[in-house]
Amino acid sequence: MKKLLYFLVSFLIVTSISFAQTKERKPGHTGTSKFRQLKQELPTPNTQHTASGAPGYEYTQQQVDYVMNITIDDETQKLYGDEVITYHNNSKDYLEYLWVQLDQNMRAPDSKTPDVQQTSIAGGSLRRPKTFTKDYLKKPFAGGFNLEYVRDANDKPLSHFINNTMMRINLAKPLAPGATYVFKIKWWYNINNYILDGGRSGYEHFPKDGNNLYVIAQFFPRLAVYDNVDGWQNIQFWGRSEFALEFGNYTVNITVPADHILNATGILQNPKEVLSKEQYKRLQKAKKTFDNPVMIVNQTEAEAAEKGHSKKTKTWKFYAERVRDIGIATSRKFIWDAMAVDINGKTVMAYSLYPKEGNPLWEEHSTRVVANTLKVYSKYTFDYPYHKAISVHARRQGMEYPQICWNFGRPNENGTYSDRVKNGMIGVITHEVGHNFFPMIVNSDERQWTWMDEGLNSFVQIQAETTYDPNISSRGLPKKIVRYMSMDQERLSPIMTQGDHVYNFGPNAYSKPAAGLTMLRNTIMGPELFDYAFRTYSKRWMFKHPTPADFFRTMEDAAAMDLDWFWRGWFYTTDYNDVGIKEVKKYYLTDNPSKTAKTKTQRFSKEINELIYFASEDEIGDPSKAKKLKDFTAINEYLNNLSEVERATMKKVPNYFYEVTFDKPGGLVLPLIVELTFEDGTKERKQYPAEIWSKHDKEVKKTFATEKQITNIVVDPDLETADIDMTNNSWPKKTEGNQFEKFKQKLKN
Ligand SMILES: [Zn+2]
Repeated sequence: MKKLLYFLVSFLIVTSISFAQTKERKPGHTGTSKFRQLKQELPTPNTQHTASGAPGYEYTQQQVDYVMNITIDDETQKLYGDEVITYHNNSKDYLEYLWVQLDQNMRAPDSKTPDVQQTSIAGGSLRRPKTFTKDYLKKPFAGGFNLEYVRDANDKPLSHFINNTMMRINLAKPLAPGATYVFKIKWWYNINNYILDGGRSGYEHFPKDGNNLYVIAQFFPRLAVYDNVDGWQNIQFWGRSEFALEFGNYTVNITVPADHILNATGILQNPKEVLSKEQYKRLQKAKKTFDNPVMIVNQTEAEAAEKGHSKKTKTWKFYAERVRDIGIATSRKFIWDAMAVDINGKTVMAYSLYPKEGNPLWEEHSTRVVANTLKVYSKYTFDYPYHKAISVHARRQGMEYPQICWNFGRPNENGTYSDRVKNGMIGVITHEVGHNFFPMIVNSDERQWTWMDEGLNSFVQIQAETTYDPNISSRGLPKKIVRYMSMDQERLSPIMTQGDHVYNFGPNAYSKPAAGLTMLRNTIMGPELFDYAFRTYSKRWMFKHPTPADFFRTMEDAAAMDLDWFWRGWFYTTDYNDVGIKEVKKYYLTDNPSKTAKTKTQRFSKEINELIYFASEDEIGDPSKAKKLKDFTAINEYLNNLSEVERATMKKVPNYFYEVTFDKPGGLVLPLIVELTFEDGTKERKQYPAEIWSKHDKEVKKTFATEKQITNIVVDPDLETADIDMTNNSWPKKTEGNQFEKFKQKLKN
């Protein structure tokens, strides 16, 4: 019933205002509500990618199987390989050609990648020794694939054409739906020293002991994705936007010096051939040890191995099922520890490979972080389906492949390290191991949509790293994206932008989507609803190729929430959130406004006749300026007509009515979170759905009927919504805020 009175009151005031506005006529428009559906932006659903966001009954994807022999020559830092590729055309289409990715060509002397980079003296290329040397002193690195042959199954030369990082295999006749095509490639390339020449893989040279540590990836010609979304995904590899790959089964034999310790994607097929008896025994023990890592190769053994340079070789044989890629790590320097992880009754192995330079940090944390990551991610998505996950120490690297990843985090030479190095290492291992889920298993198109793996992964990373160590301050929280969101608009791109065309890659593809998902979970949907929907998406698209629409649609489909406004604002625009308190008006009921605001606590049943006037204070806190707004005879008459029973159950008349005008200088629509503080210090919080802005995009009024006087109002008190300007979020305005505002103004002038 309190509500009834409140409704009548606001109605009386509002009507008089809207009459005044109808006199002026404005031109018509097409409708730009921020709450309109995303029909124009999202692709039309079909029988492969359905309207619910799930794979449809006609969903297909290609499969590509590889049988490879790889040799890494440690003396010359060259990689030699041959492969037999079996391409399964599971689509309903005839294919005239196949596209093969030649990622190494990005490092070839004729690569176009350096050509599209701006080089300016002031821009710093003279100031950084590495870029200066690379750009002006050194011969270009002789990278890129050298193809020795491309042959068909009968060893006949196969017609092909190389366009930079893509190679078209011209088929003699179109490959029919359901048919399989076998072909062969042999190649070699110079492995880059990634410390000097950059790159996501390559080797680091350790001058003190003369050894190299290899982290090898994109090392073989591999098939591009063909699907009914983009046809062939053959956007060139410019070095930044990552990979789009098909699932398949891999048989890989890797030959390296006999004294190397090696690991790679896949199940090791010949452990007894490549491991010593002692190492094999320790590995069996590790498979049953769930509490602490077991040393398979300890530091003393690794240091001894550093000193020999065996001329003999060893071949490590792997078989990997349902993976989209392969990564290899090999060195004489490797220490190896291992621990079993229980994922809902299934044992998965967590491994770490690191040189002595990684200790003592790595033996302490790496494998434990791997184990924690697998557990937490499994909770938020699905049970980790592979048999192992490996964290490899590689200076300045943070890069992911199925079951294996490279991670930075190196202590000082004397073994000391800062919290920053430690937390950075925990963060990067969590992140890169987490990539097993996105995009290695939920296999989105990285070349096109960086956020689909980096953003989703950075979001789950927050849950995992804070589980490992609650003191870690995660990026990807809404308050941490404020600086980026308030940048010059010309330097911002919507999240839905292909990664090669983005200025601030990190915030755009990692932190902003992660902050958005954090907001979606904690503020907009609530953990229960969000977690169910997020798991649904993850499970639906395990071992498949989801698109952005599949994610957006699934989140709504599994939660019964229209989130189109959120996707539109956060993913399709560069709008920022800024909400403020523009004005607060105080009203009260009184029998005589010329007196004071001394309204007694009244009960309808007794003193209803005293409610005659609705008064307001012009300046809050100054009742002498109160003026009469309305005669309440009509309400009193209405109330007096209620039955005794109805009147007996009514609540107290509120003492005060605060009409608060919230303005929204920012373009985003998000929930409005308001915290009221009362004169006795108690607080009350109210959250309004984003839809509050649907008919009032610039400002909206809310009336709070209270028993106690409000002394303070704050919008978004816990910094949940990435509001870029907090100076207008409080009433009364904070003085520090005003000074900051002046300072900001000064900067603008
Ligand atoms: Zn990443």
